[in-house]
Amino acid sequence: THVITSACIDVKDGACVHACPVDCIYVGGRMLYIHPDECIDCGVCVSFCPVDAIHDDQLVPPDLKQFIAINAEFFGPS
Ligand code: SF4
Repeated sequence: THVITSACIDVKDGACVHACPVDCIYVGGRMLYIHPDECIDCGVCVSFCPVDAIHDDQLVPPDLKQFIAINAEFFGPS
């Protein structure tokens, strides 16, 4: 899955929401979140993010790895 990280906090540009072909990016209080079970890993959203907040979960920088869980937890226990 792809995940949204700290650069999105208080930015919430939203271009990714419209770019996502399966509508799996959701608006939260201070950032946006990608639903891990709905994301098809197409990668389209990455280039639309003006702050480079979106990463493939396999390629998330080490200091941002906690955002894998943060994205998933937004949608509750699976
Ligand atoms: Fe949507 Fe594709 Fe981005 Fe996943 S990788 S959130 S499916 S645009």
